[in-house]
Amino acid sequence: MTDRPRRVGLFGGTFDPPHAGHLAVACAARDALDLDVVELVPSSVPPHRRAPGATPAERLEMVRLACAGEPRLVASDREIRRDGTSYTVDTLRELAHDHPGAELFLVLGADSYDELPTWRESAEIVRLAHLAVLPRPGAHGVLRLRPDDAARLRAPGDPRPAEGTAVFAVPMPLVPLAARDLRARLARGEDPGAGLAAPVFGYIRERGLYGWPLGVSMSETSSAWDPVLAAAVRALSSRKAERLSVLDLRDKSSFTDFFVICSGTSDRQVKSLAEETALKVKEETGRRAVVEGLAQGEWVLLDYGDFLVHVFSEHAREFYRLESLWGDAPRLDPAGASL
Ligand code: ATP
Repeated sequence: MTDRPRRVGLFGGTFDPPHAGHLAVACAARDALDLDVVELVPSSVPPHRRAPGATPAERLEMVRLACAGEPRLVASDREIRRDGTSYTVDTLRELAHDHPGAELFLVLGADSYDELPTWRESAEIVRLAHLAVLPRPGAHGVLRLRPDDAARLRAPGDPRPAEGTAVFAVPMPLVPLAARDLRARLARGEDPGAGLAAPVFGYIRERGLYGWPLGVSMSETSSAWDPVLAAAVRALSSRKAERLSVLDLRDKSSFTDFFVICSGTSDRQVKSLAEETALKVKEETGRRAVVEGLAQGEWVLLDYGDFLVHVFSEHAREFYRLESLWGDAPRLDPAGASL
């Protein structure tokens, strides 16, 4: 080891949840710039964002899980520990204080580089730290450098500018992932695939974060919320269907996989729930149902083959007691069907 100054990277974010794009950024910056440590710092209340879905402590724990086993990446609670809104400039000052004489690197995805001028004391940020900018689909990053940055642009192996800090363009294969898309998938009970590290996904499942349906195993849910079933359940809940429940009959019935059961407060509502749901599902997914019982309006059945939707009047629901016939069938949480 040479006696060069210690190189400390700061990679801040909401990490709601931390995903494979974050990890790719942190690892690429660490390796290209030979950083001794990269602190991944979840923000407490992100200044530019709506309130996140998981609590600060949960996001910190997920970042810990995501970094485990990655040399020189560490999860840090320094912003969560501090009261109030997190500002990057304060975190850099704290790092400078904790690592006297170190070179600081602020690690940014391209979208964050694009927004940097709007951050508090952005001139001070670039005085305190080199920027390490990594590409992200849909953002400019170093492809649209600000005029002040043009003379400071460097490739990772280049010498530093004679004075002041550099903007390092760190190459990395594009990773088309965003936390908001992953949250939407999780809310539908879909397996996020390689987008989340297995321990992070395990933590989310255990706690039912982001609307992941609790008490339902992954193999059940990932195939359960197929788009047509999810569209039907969403359509019913948005039209105020009463006592909506979804029974998983895959181990119990040979004729269908799921029953969606709900009720309307009048025959008229039963009919309109059934008609509007069939229409909405057709619009969203192209699938048509075979519809029975519309004329009576006591019990309307939408038959989609792999699942059936039963819309009952309260009276008919009590009479047929379908749910008690399938009493021990696992239930899916209808909230899992929402985007
Ligand atoms: P959301 O979708 O909720 O806005 P996000 O996926 O953008 O979240 P953040 O926690 O806001 O994640 O991002 C933290 C940092 O990680 C930012 O600098 C951002 O640019 C960077 N980043 C996130 N995802 C990627 C990605 N797929 N590729 C490159 N950089 C990324």
